Order: sequence, then structure tokens, then C-alpha cells
Amino acid sequence: MPDPATQRGAGHRVFIDFDNTITIGDMLDGVIERFAGDESWRTFEEDWAVGRIGTRACLEGQVLTLRAEWSELRAHLDGIELDPGFAVLRDQLRREQVEFTILSDNFDLFVSHLLQRHGLDDVPFQSNHVERVGNRFLPSFPHANPECPGCAHCKKTHFLPPHHDARRVIYIGDGRSDVCPSLHADIVFAKDSLLTHLQKKGIACIPYRNLTEVSQRLETILHDNVQ
Ligand SMILES: [Mg+2]
Ligand SMILES: [Zn+2]
Repeated sequence: MPDPATQRGAGHRVFIDFDNTITIGDMLDGVIERFAGDESWRTFEEDWAVGRIGTRACLEGQVLTLRAEWSELRAHLDGIELDPGFAVLRDQLRREQVEFTILSDNFDLFVSHLLQRHGLDDVPFQSNHVERVGNRFLPSFPHANPECPGCAHCKKTHFLPPHHDARRVIYIGDGRSDVCPSLHADIVFAKDSLLTHLQKKGIACIPYRNLTEVSQRLETILHDNVQ
């Protein structure tokens, strides 16, 4: 017989955004600002902000402008800090046997480097893909969803059919790429522009400031089965 406490925890799956949710600040924005080979990234950003282009076109255009040796870019990534609550959350969910996955609109090469550097690469992640060719970076979008043109990485696809099961989905995020999955999760933790957006639309969510707060709140959710 499985321990009922463990069973309650394992009745959930937790998905978490990466930039500005796990990292302090937006890592990808920082990389683009620092290493863009020209100023065209600003036009992509402005066009995206007013809805003239989607996230995928914006990211693709911006990443294609990057010019950096991998050693330089790595050194930049090494200066990025993570929310200290992330390691706590990882340990907590491991103890509770809750599946925990990072869903990022960033790119695998950068995300995996950062996780490895902080000894957190045992947490699985799904992201966009980038191929490094010399000092250039070629992006591709393996989790694009033709039915959801607003998303580059359509995060909800990881927990909707055919990946759906009886477990409750808990989603943690901060920004625009988190809106789509937040509309389909059972419990949402939101901060910054995600929080503003969901509150404006009257969609239930739990506000948070950092992952230590999320971890404390999850203690109750996982054990008492209440929100
Ligand atoms: Mg984010
Ligand atoms: Zn989507």
C-alpha cells in the first residue's frame, strides 16, 4: 500500500516557467541585449509588444542577430542568479514524489548550462532549441502548436491530451508565455505581468513574490488537498 501522504502529493504535477521565475530577471532578454550583432532586435521587440508579430517570429529574429563566442556567452550566463527558493522547491517536490518540469520559452543550450552550473540539472526541462554554428545561433521551435499561434513554445501541450491524466496541474509563472498554460492548469501561481493579466480577466490565481513563498503554500496544497 502506498503511503497516503505520498499519494496525495503524487496526485499533482508541477510545471514552472524559467526566465524571471527561476532566474532573477529575464536571462534571454539580457543575452539579446548584450550580444545582438545589430539593433534590429529592438524592432522585433517593439513589434512583439504591440502584437504586430508573434512570440516565435520575435524570438527567431532576435536570436538570429546574436553574435558571440560560446566562451563569452557562457561567462555572461555564469553571472546570472537563481531564486534560492528553486532548490528548496526541487527538494520538496522530490520528497513528495511530485513530477516537476520546467517549461521555458528560452533555449536548451542556455537553460541547461545554467541548471548545470547551479547543480540543478536533475530537474527536467522543455524549451525551444538552438544550434550553435561558430559565433551564431540558429533557433527552432519543437513545441510550437499550430492551433496556438501566439505561443513559440506552447507550454500547455505538455499537460493537455495526449499528456493529460488525473493528476492536478500546478503552474508557476510570471509573463506572457505563461498565459496560455495558466488558462488550462488547475492551480496557478502568478507574479508580475501574468498576475496583472489574470486578475484583469478575473481568472483565479495565487499571487507570489518568490519561490520560497510558493514552496510554503505548496506544503498545504499537497497535503490538505485545498487551495
Ligand atoms: Mg518568465
Ligand atoms: Zn499556447
